Amino acid sequence: MSPLIEARSVELAFGETPALRGADLSVEAGEVLAVMGPSGSGKSTLLHCLAGILVPDAGEVHFDGQRMDTMNEARRSALRRDRFGFVFQFGQLVPELTAEENVALPLLLNGVRRAAALAEARPWFARLGLDGMERRRSGELSGGQAQRVALARGLVTRPQVLFADEPTGALDSLTGEQVMELMVDAARSQGTTVVLVTHEARVAAYADREAVVRDGRARTLSSGPVPGVAAGRVAS
Ligand code: ADP
Repeated sequence: MSPLIEARSVELAFGETPALRGADLSVEAGEVLAVMGPSGSGKSTLLHCLAGILVPDAGEVHFDGQRMDTMNEARRSALRRDRFGFVFQFGQLVPELTAEENVALPLLLNGVRRAAALAEARPWFARLGLDGMERRRSGELSGGQAQRVALARGLVTRPQVLFADEPTGALDSLTGEQVMELMVDAARSQGTTVVLVTHEARVAAYADREAVVRDGRARTLSSGPVPGVAAGRVAS
């Protein structure tokens, strides 16, 4: 079986600063992959290349049998909207919207009607332990609650891949572990593949497999059976 996402010899520089210098990485469907490495090693840049946000200067990125690095921006944008979900370090909720409107936002942007989008968004509050928080705005939520709302927003479209960039980076360790547990359980239950960037081994421990980025090159640490796949829990 070919990987769901594959980066081959990816290079990318920001002006004179090389961020990726020939990174290779593959992500299997249904797995939770942690991308680790020290600050500045190129983890976020690699994630942005895998997600079609950045286009590499050289090398190839394949997603589900398609070359992503040669696609135009409109097609990459459609892929991001239809197939990918995102969670970032600081949840980046829209402060003017309620929590349930924030969760519904990707659906609204996809043209789903408001009532239907909110109906899809609401069950996420019970699922993520956020009962009663539906009408709050981000200023009225704790850091952990806001990040769970951001997680629901990342998963509400049932994306094929969830890209998470230091999703627990702004949380204390207990809250961070709760968010990781919820993220991994929710992703597995709907067959979403997760690519997780973190510099914390404690966070990476939730993943099936780890890759390490150093000086813009990626190395896979461990491989083996992918639990989600082995257990047959992955949607086709
Ligand atoms: P990590 O996620 O491992 O901390 P990054 O991918 O963010 O690493 O950064 C890799 C390198 O690229 C670093 O040297 C960083 O300073 C540089 N870099 C990242 N983003 C930008 C940018 N937008 N402009 C200029 N340099 C950048």
